[in-house]
Amino acid sequence: MTPALAAIIWAVGLVAWAVIRAPHQRRARRIKVVKDSRTIGDRLALGAASLGLSLVPIIYVATGFPAFADYLFRPWMGWVGLLVELGFLALFFASHRQLGKNWSVSLEIRDHHQLVTDGLYRFVRHPMYSSFWLWAIAQFFLLPNWVAGLAGLAGVAIFYFSRVGKEEAMMRNTFGASYDSYAARTGRVVPRVW
Ligand code: SAH
Repeated sequence: MTPALAAIIWAVGLVAWAVIRAPHQRRARRIKVVKDSRTIGDRLALGAASLGLSLVPIIYVATGFPAFADYLFRPWMGWVGLLVELGFLALFFASHRQLGKNWSVSLEIRDHHQLVTDGLYRFVRHPMYSSFWLWAIAQFFLLPNWVAGLAGLAGVAIFYFSRVGKEEAMMRNTFGASYDSYAARTGRVVPRVW
């Protein structure tokens, strides 16, 4: 494992992310939104995640900037990064499939929205956000640069902490007691723990 290979793994992960998401984005455009809870704050949070998981690392991988923040790459970091990246893609893929027509990039309730409580959603309420945390951790191990490596974690932290409470409030508003009992038996991003 070399730094170049690790950077390629990171880039392939970004492309795979776009390929997995594209059909869901296309389908979502055709399904009516019945409740729109999007806010400026949520858009900014999404922007922070995109900045940290794509723009900053793309600049680093393409140009080497900011080189002053480089540190020594070790092969084990690349292997750990690869494993975590595969976990990210598996969770990202499966959560999209299981959420199906109920998926939105933002805080929205769609026509005939159903509360999904099986598959990954039996264990955690936010498996897609679990996958984002894994993505950021993989980026940290794959890119040996303090700025590019940590940007993903910072972006996901901003996104996650600004989103999760609002999303759960929206779901509770829509599904009432069924969401309460669902929340009582699941973790947020790590089964039982967190
Ligand atoms: N937080 C979830 C979903 C991310 S997509 C996850 O991490 O897997 C965000 C949208 O999914 C929200 O706007 C909401 O409309 C919808 N959503 C979230 N949890 C859901 C659930 N359990 N069942 C159905 N839709 C859900």
